Amino acid sequence: MRAQDAATALFEQLTGRAPDGVWSAPGRVNLIGEHTDYNDGFVLPFAIPHRTYAAVGMREDGRIRVASTFADDAPVEIAVDELTAFFPTPTGEHPAVAEWAAYPLGVAWALQLAGAAGRGVDIAIASDVPVGAGLSSSAAIEGATASALNDLYNAGFDRTALARIGRRAENEAVGAPTGIMDQMASMLGEPDAAIFLDCRTLDANLVSVGIAEAGLEILILDTRVQHSHSTGGYRERRESCERGAAIMGVPALRDVSVGDLGRAEELMDDVTFRRVRHIVTENRRVLDTVTTLRERGARAIGDLLVASHASMRDDFEISVPELDTAVEAALSAGAIGARMTGGGFGGSAIALIERDSVQAVSDAVTAAFAASGFAPPHTFTVTPAAGARRDA
Ligand code: ADP
Ligand code: MG
Repeated sequence: MRAQDAATALFEQLTGRAPDGVWSAPGRVNLIGEHTDYNDGFVLPFAIPHRTYAAVGMREDGRIRVASTFADDAPVEIAVDELTAFFPTPTGEHPAVAEWAAYPLGVAWALQLAGAAGRGVDIAIASDVPVGAGLSSSAAIEGATASALNDLYNAGFDRTALARIGRRAENEAVGAPTGIMDQMASMLGEPDAAIFLDCRTLDANLVSVGIAEAGLEILILDTRVQHSHSTGGYRERRESCERGAAIMGVPALRDVSVGDLGRAEELMDDVTFRRVRHIVTENRRVLDTVTTLRERGARAIGDLLVASHASMRDDFEISVPELDTAVEAALSAGAIGARMTGGGFGGSAIALIERDSVQAVSDAVTAAFAASGFAPPHTFTVTPAAGARRDA
């Protein structure tokens, strides 16, 4: 069943009536710019065709109930007035509700804090975004819920405000210290375009990627190694970045340039320096990728993708053997560029490949996984797709 129909069916099963509407938001893949978002830097993600749907209807009793096809748990229900007693979650603690339910309930909570008048609703969720694959099923559930409640509450928030609300839910209700990239990509996506985002100002510019016109494809290599951002590694990297910025005497690593790296190396321990060097060079690579796409086209960005992967593997140390294997096998099979994408510690890599080599590169990665004793990867192509919207 299509995810949109599944959300509607779940709503009907839950309430015995039709939803007031169905809203959706997509997952995203990041072309380049990893862990730069919470350093006030630059990113270049695009929304993917996989989406999360929220079928939603108002209730008159001031209670909010969420259900998802993702969770076998019973639906979670609380009074709208009680939301503030559940959240925020003290950093690193698990929320007082099932973790998945903290995403939609956290969005309802964050909307109220932003000034919306919360009311009772039933929310039924279904998705075709792979969960925990680095394709931001989290931003998709946040974006679908935020768009629905924004409309039903007549709150009038714009897309950027809804992205901030989603991020607040993820940071403070779920307790995952992620940046703003995922939510912005999911809210602002457009067909054929990547979103060049300045994470300090939230200035967003669409950049045509021209993948199809160049005769290319972007292949997702989902390692099926599950990651979780609520746990250790992601938080540790953030702390290293904050330490590095403090040592350099700047508000964020965005303010450190490649030319400052010599001084940084003298001032910091080796690990902190390598974390800093990843962020500083990655910001540069995002800017270079945007210029290259505009001036020379998609075929010319391969080396930047490869350099980004090496920096994440060696300096930021967020890759895993499955991701390195996927990238190496894709490049050996003729990919123009490849890199892990998303927060790391699992999830997916992307490969930029010739249109007629989808099968060959997929087969090569699958064979390399088998040779290393890894479970088979999922591979599929994606094209830049539309952001959050109302579907019905
Ligand atoms: P990613 O965003 O890379 O997929 P995250 O760990 O950030 O991974 O978010 C995954 C979590 O988001 C899931 O474990 C679940 O708690 C929640 N989630 C995502 N999609 C859904 C869904 N359709 N229904 C319920 N919860 C979901
Ligand atoms: Mg996520």
